[in-house]
Amino acid sequence: MAKKKSKREYVWLECKECGQRNYRTTVNVAEGTPKLELKKYCKSERKHTAHKIRRK
Ligand SMILES: [Zn+2]
Repeated sequence: MAKKKSKREYVWLECKECGQRNYRTTVNVAEGTPKLELKKYCKSERKHTAHKIRRK
């Protein structure tokens, strides 16, 4: 019952418009570079904006 070997890394999803880090998620870095931008809801602007993945 060994855990599957995967390289997961914690990243922040940062709003491109106001710079707020709204979400924290994990990406699988073993599968190459993940999608760099996602449409996410920004709480401070109360609308959907593009969010950039920020690796620590
Ligand atoms: Zn924002």
